[in-house]
Amino acid sequence: MLSTMQDVPLLISRILTHGSTIHGSSQVTTWTGEPEPHRRTYAEIGARAAQLAHALGDDLGVARDDRIATLMWNNAEHVEAYFAIPSMGAVLHTLNLRLPPEQLIWIVHHAADRVVIANGSLLPLLAPLLPHLKTLEHVIVSGPGDRAPLTEAAATAGVRVHEYEELLAGKPTAYDWPELDERQAAAMCYTSGTTGDPKGVVYSHRSVYLHSMQVNMAESMGLTDRDTSLVVVPQFHVNAWGLPHATFMTGVNLLMPDRFLQPAPLAEMIERERPTHAAAVPTIWQGLLGELTANPREVSSLTQVTIGGSACPPALMEAFDRLGMRVCHAWGMTETSPLGTVARPPAHAVGTDEEFGYRITQGRFPTGVEARLTGPGGERLPWDGRSAGELEVRGPWIAAAYYNGPDGEPQRPEDKFTEDGWLKTGDVGTISPDGFLTLTDRAKDVIKSGGEWISSVELENALMAHPAVAEAAVVAVPDEKWGERPLATVVLREGADAGFETLRTFLQDEAKIAKWQLPERWTILPAVPKTSVGKFDKKVLRRQYAAGELEITEI
Ligand code: AMP
Repeated sequence: MLSTMQDVPLLISRILTHGSTIHGSSQVTTWTGEPEPHRRTYAEIGARAAQLAHALGDDLGVARDDRIATLMWNNAEHVEAYFAIPSMGAVLHTLNLRLPPEQLIWIVHHAADRVVIANGSLLPLLAPLLPHLKTLEHVIVSGPGDRAPLTEAAATAGVRVHEYEELLAGKPTAYDWPELDERQAAAMCYTSGTTGDPKGVVYSHRSVYLHSMQVNMAESMGLTDRDTSLVVVPQFHVNAWGLPHATFMTGVNLLMPDRFLQPAPLAEMIERERPTHAAAVPTIWQGLLGELTANPREVSSLTQVTIGGSACPPALMEAFDRLGMRVCHAWGMTETSPLGTVARPPAHAVGTDEEFGYRITQGRFPTGVEARLTGPGGERLPWDGRSAGELEVRGPWIAAAYYNGPDGEPQRPEDKFTEDGWLKTGDVGTISPDGFLTLTDRAKDVIKSGGEWISSVELENALMAHPAVAEAAVVAVPDEKWGERPLATVVLREGADAGFETLRTFLQDEAKIAKWQLPERWTILPAVPKTSVGKFDKKVLRRQYAAGELEITEI
């Protein structure tokens, strides 16, 4: 028996229409580095998204399914692109501006992007790539920045250049958005590509819609139109964790940092614009913590901070607690849209000694993300908080495949998807009986020592709890006797001094790390190498170690 309910497709255009009317007075504020930031209402964003869609369709001939790339910071124009492109039936492809040029070229070619909207400040990055971007026909430039680097390169490459504001000028401010199939492609992101070629994840209107509703749940970020969210996580990193879509559902004001991502301007933004929420990876928060410690500011508005993308060191969480900012830890992946878990402690733990223990887990699975753990031999592991295995997930906002392989068909590599269609996350951890995930490692970062596993994350967190340590990354290095052993790489705080012996004793006595897990190889680094999205880049460390480039002390 079928239901008698209406079947209204879950489309991004519906989120846009809702946000720009019901929440028309909510604002997107973009930091400009000038005395005044730039402000635009949701109603204006709606009107300009319509104008952009007209411009793309009428002037540039953009048709259904065409891929339109963005090479942009977080700003109001990027939000317009987020809504206009999928709503008209085309596919938004956000490019990670921190990728090396060869990868960007590869990705644009693989996605067959026809158009790119680029910020003027990023033209020095884009211009040299143009001769290699064979599928590209148009560049639309938005915001400040010298256009000169582009002009010549575009002429040579046969690419037409447009000014964003000129394209929009005079276009109708309403658009009759097509009634699309909710399963149609809306947006795509490529994974950071630690091994092999980058892989494209293609989100549907339906997956974005359902994911946005989950982001808005009180169990997740739970924001309302009384909030302002400082979105530091880039719009090119898994759709800024779904925030622009989710906020248009609820009227949350957006504070966009544009290219001002350094700790000092972020601290200034928080003091002046008084956001109530912010989202970013731990490295950003480490930097901000240093800044706020050196130059204290009035940041009391910021009561909720979502941290994810890599494990939040407990010491960082405690430091922010002391500043009155409550960190909420979350886990996700490009393949999971990204929201996979959020660490909101259960009611019975709130206000008790158990609370912090829950907050430092990766979090609890929401409805819509089913999870299971698979052991090294393929066996299903219990949710007992002890048995560690690879996490597998499925749900309506989780990838079932990657965008086209060489045969033009979706790819389902065996190491990424199970035979019964679950996503293999590559993350190793435990799940408690009440559904809280604790990650101990990436499958490829686990240190396999004499048949036992050592968690690099546990060692890193323990090291970062030492007052002299600013950052620490631990990687597996080959060892004749044990197979692999941990190498501890440490960045000391400015002016701090701590010998390796002291740190090793601290690990054993204070952090209660088992003796056999303590690293014997140590090195000091000026900074831990980071990936394009600000995570510790352990493959660089492994390579540097193998090439003998690190000065190792054995103790
Ligand atoms: P990406 O697709 O670039 O966002 O990377 C996803 C990966 O980041 C996950 O598979 C995890 O390994 C890692 N990650 C994300 N969030 C967390 C977290 N809260 N704790 C530990 N690792 C995380």
